[in-house]
Amino acid sequence: MSIVIDPPSPARALLTEDLLRRFDTPGPRYTSYPTADRFNEAFGPAEAAEVLAQPLAGQSAPPLSVYVHIPFCESLCYYCGCNKIITRHHERAAQYLDALERELALVVQRLGSRRAVSQLHLGGGSPTFLSDDELTRLMRALGAAFRLTPDSEVSIEVDPRTVTPARLGHLRSLGFNRLSFGVQDFDADVQQAVHRVQSFEMVRDLMTSARTLGYASINADLIYGLPKQTPQSFERTVSQIGELRPDRIALYAYAHLPERFKPQRRIDAADLPSPAQRIAMLGNAIGGFMSRGYGYIGMDHFALPDDALAVAKREGRLHRNFQGYSTQPDCDLVALGVSAISRVGAAYYQNAKTLPDYHASLARGELPVVRGYRLSEDDALRRDVIMALMCQGRLDFDAIERSHGVDMEAYFARELQSLRALADSGLVELQDGAVQVTAAGWFVVRAIAMVFDRHLQSARERHGFSRVV
Ligand code: SF4
Repeated sequence: MSIVIDPPSPARALLTEDLLRRFDTPGPRYTSYPTADRFNEAFGPAEAAEVLAQPLAGQSAPPLSVYVHIPFCESLCYYCGCNKIITRHHERAAQYLDALERELALVVQRLGSRRAVSQLHLGGGSPTFLSDDELTRLMRALGAAFRLTPDSEVSIEVDPRTVTPARLGHLRSLGFNRLSFGVQDFDADVQQAVHRVQSFEMVRDLMTSARTLGYASINADLIYGLPKQTPQSFERTVSQIGELRPDRIALYAYAHLPERFKPQRRIDAADLPSPAQRIAMLGNAIGGFMSRGYGYIGMDHFALPDDALAVAKREGRLHRNFQGYSTQPDCDLVALGVSAISRVGAAYYQNAKTLPDYHASLARGELPVVRGYRLSEDDALRRDVIMALMCQGRLDFDAIERSHGVDMEAYFARELQSLRALADSGLVELQDGAVQVTAAGWFVVRAIAMVFDRHLQSARERHGFSRVV
């Protein structure tokens, strides 16, 4: 059965309710491989110090990506599944910045000072919980520790309720050139049901200011599947976003897991849209964005044709990291702050998840790392396979065989056999020496990637991931 997509769009021919329903199952988002549930406590501060010092030493090392996590928010959104701390006590931010500076010093000790950075991202929580002076302090500390390359992407997540056009001007003066606005939905009933009230006019005025200030790219996050949403109400939000014309749109599926995320217990399950309504919302939103000139990047992301992400996709230069799709080459990611996850060389590691633990490690003069994972050769091979599928939509056996010295047909005989069912559904083409994701397959690309995930062996391990669509 076809989903009603109005006005007609290229997605109409590709998306069917059957397809979306078949793949409406939990699955990893592959911002890392293996996924974070594989990390273990045998990897701690000493191991992190070792990997930081080893592969990155030397002035010729490629530029880094840096992420800084600011955990604070003033008010709780009921759908929230993030690692955050709700507080109105802004003095906690200064203490946190002290700790961040201590962590930064420990990292730079191992890494060497003034390493080039081509991508810097502040996320949360709400980074705009920090005052202008605190943001200045943080950017100065980062600027002293690292050397931003001239074309670097410097981005920040913005809660529209915490900024003004003047604040956006201050962020621009600090070097930020990309903004990501948390919008979620413009409908007043939905906003009340999730305890996040922000008007269309507020977001419109901020986006207009951001354009005047010369930000290179503006992103808007939306969520479907929220309480009180209907296909009709969400179409209005999609149309309003179309009016604002952000360069990028991220459309996430709400996963209602109140046993896991306490804030979600405030959502009345009876207010949630039905599975059929969710699928209609997704189909209509995809159609709505595409008919307004947005291209589908993959997973939850859409971009206007001249946005760097769309250009990178056309040129086969798309990558994937903890922030999602990225134009940056597959570089090491150094992540700072409570709960932040780094990827350095062939290892991933995560910082302490609570503020007391984070502060205590730093007070001992230790990196605040509590768990991590060293990739085996098999993991590194599968990571390259999964990222090729997720980013390029194509797996060329030659390239992987050259980098990893394996015979793809033999090594992945079982997986290639499993792909036949997806090929029969028109989601992949099995070619001589390659796997090609089809246009329809892009909409469920992580279901294709999951075939190559060795760690996804049992239903228990799969429990808790967000949905494939
Ligand atoms: S959704 Fe974002 S702004 Fe809302 S409580 Fe969670 S982290 Fe804070």
